[in-house]
Amino acid sequence: MSTLQSKFDDWPEPVEVLNDGGRSDIVLICEHASNHIPECFDGLGLEDIELERHIAWDIGAESVSRSLSALLDAPCFIGKYSRLLIDLNRPIESATSIPVRSEATDVPGNVHLSPGDRQLRIDRIFTPFQAAVSAHLDRREKDRRPTKIVAIHSFTPVFLGEARPWDAGILFDKSAEFGVDLIDRLKRVTGLNIGANVPYVIERTSDYAIPVHGEDRGLDAVLVEIRQDLIGSADGQARWADHLFRSLT
Ligand SMILES: [Zn+2]
Repeated sequence: MSTLQSKFDDWPEPVEVLNDGGRSDIVLICEHASNHIPECFDGLGLEDIELERHIAWDIGAESVSRSLSALLDAPCFIGKYSRLLIDLNRPIESATSIPVRSEATDVPGNVHLSPGDRQLRIDRIFTPFQAAVSAHLDRREKDRRPTKIVAIHSFTPVFLGEARPWDAGILFDKSAEFGVDLIDRLKRVTGLNIGANVPYVIERTSDYAIPVHGEDRGLDAVLVEIRQDLIGSADGQARWADHLFRSLT
């Protein structure tokens, strides 16, 4: 086996597409599903324990997305690499597309990256993921199918020492009607603290799916952020998939 072949042995396809022919109007995207980092990166210089933390991925988000995709009969695009390699929900021009620091943790393997190393991650991870989503949305547009984008994420309960009080947040920019309606429904279904545009806000400079796949196509698009401790177990993940299913239908 050549060196090149062995180098890419543990490089999966960058996107897993579930339920491509699903009949729902909703298209799910879960960019931060995985903490996978191919062996050749040597964990980007981080300890294994750091790679289990929220800095590497959105804990619980993949399982919620898979269950919700099945419940809704909705297509779902799942990212297969850690966001520490390249963030699928940021424009590649963003300074944090390939973060040199995440929360309070330095990422040694991302410091002084050569243009070639950066391009490799763009070509093998970022571009094909976005192309798969775009091709799917192009097809729906051609078939005149109604489409709403819902991206599934999770957030850490404590960030830089500060506790976050919300159980979940719905983030939106232009899709205020869809966003506010989803918040009202989720509040009714769960009785929990659901915030608007928390713990982050959508910005074109630091978000990708909502502005590019959603708003640039004139589609309703929201991002769901669930607090990680609520979806850390299989029970919680199933419960939140059901909450979202009931709120989205
Ligand atoms: Zn995320």
